[in-house]
Amino acid sequence: MVTVSFNKISFEESLAKHVVAAEKCISCGACVLTCPFGCLELTKETPTLIKECKICGICAHVCPRYLWLRADAEKFVFNRERKTDEEFGIYCKLLAIQAKDKNVLEVGQDGGGVTALLVSAFENGLIDGAIVAGHGREKPFLPFPKLATSPKEILECAGTKYTYSPNVLALADVVKQKKTSVAFVGTPCQIHAIRKMQMAGLKKYTAPIKYLIGLLCSECFTYDGLMEKHIHEKLGINLSDIKKMNIKGKMLVTTNTGTITIPLAEAKQYARESCHFCDDFSAELADISTGGLGLEGWTFTIVRTGKGEELLLKAEQTGFLNVKPVDTETNALNLLKKLSKKKREVSAVS
Ligand SMILES: Cc1cc2nc3c(=O)[nH]c(=O)nc-3n(C[C@H](O)[C@H](O)[C@H](O)COP(=O)(O)OP(=O)(O)OC[C@H]3O[C@@H](n4cnc5c(N)ncnc54)[C@H](O)[C@@H]3O)c2cc1C
Ligand code: SF4
Ligand code: SF4
Ligand code: SF4
Repeated sequence: MVTVSFNKISFEESLAKHVVAAEKCISCGACVLTCPFGCLELTKETPTLIKECKICGICAHVCPRYLWLRADAEKFVFNRERKTDEEFGIYCKLLAIQAKDKNVLEVGQDGGGVTALLVSAFENGLIDGAIVAGHGREKPFLPFPKLATSPKEILECAGTKYTYSPNVLALADVVKQKKTSVAFVGTPCQIHAIRKMQMAGLKKYTAPIKYLIGLLCSECFTYDGLMEKHIHEKLGINLSDIKKMNIKGKMLVTTNTGTITIPLAEAKQYARESCHFCDDFSAELADISTGGLGLEGWTFTIVRTGKGEELLLKAEQTGFLNVKPVDTETNALNLLKKLSKKKREVSAVS
């Protein structure tokens, strides 16, 4: 097991200079959550000091964009580094999954697999909460970190929101509500943040986390740019009328009256700056990673750890999931390899 020893460095000398000013901050909120002196606040999607920094160095140790060493994280999670032919990280199984419950399938993004895994884990007593992204609290389709504590709440949070939700911040509610076993759903960068917190031994926040479910991710968009400027102002869509958004080669925005498409090249102008530094497409450090990869009505699933396997098996055995092999899904497999490679190449030069 790799353990990080804390170097005492101030927020200004570490994250403010090398992450925030360099536009690499992904707004995960790990620094804000773990600062023991409550010195930080997430303002306009970046951490800012609201009190004098006590120079303890903890924020620097949990930030996924500061001194990030993938090899160390792989050794921590899998007890080894990936081999060169493990193009999308270490895994034990590839599958496609689909929620058996029609209500879950209907609200789920692809096959509703993530929601079905969470509901199963909850109903089977594996978890007492799930960190997911709620939506529509302040503005339509604007996500926010949510600790769901019932299948009903898990279901209400199904579906992809393509703008950022700092899900890590919901760990504060896990501690407040004294939850002991939660599943965390997040983008690959958020999974990195959790792994760094685990590696740093911050048990207060990490001990209750039982499962990490990662979402495959090419990029995330700004709410001001994609939702307000483009979809609302340019395309004239009332944001409260949106029922679902998806990406299948192009961005699809579905309302009650039909589906409007946005070419991906057009949408990409609203990608968050920090996503350009990202090297992980398929949540390579999660227990289980999930994506669409062009499948219709199924969730492409990469089982990576024993915990991921436990979550999946329980859902399958207790009738929450349909499961099928993906050996013949050549397009999806090629896309997975291509996008993983592209991310690593882009981040290597940025
Ligand atoms: C920003 C983003 C970009 C993505 N890009 C790709 C891609 O390029 N290729 C690909 O194959 N898949 C991508 N995905 C994953 C895909 O959209 C689905 O989330 C995944 O296939 C699981 O589908 P499902 O039907 O099983 O999910 P569901 O059962 O609908 O569950 C989805 C879960 O994700 C949570 N969630 C939704 N939005 C967010 C968010 N913004 N941040 C954190 N959690 C969230 C929900 O609360 C819910 O718990 C992306 C997801 C996100 C959030
Ligand atoms: S965790 Fe808080 S006190 Fe410690 S270095 Fe960071 S900002 Fe300063
Ligand atoms: S921990 Fe997260 S929010 Fe804080 S500076 Fe790093 S990337 Fe940004
Ligand atoms: S592209 Fe990378 S940095 Fe951007 S939201 Fe996705 S995982 Fe995070």
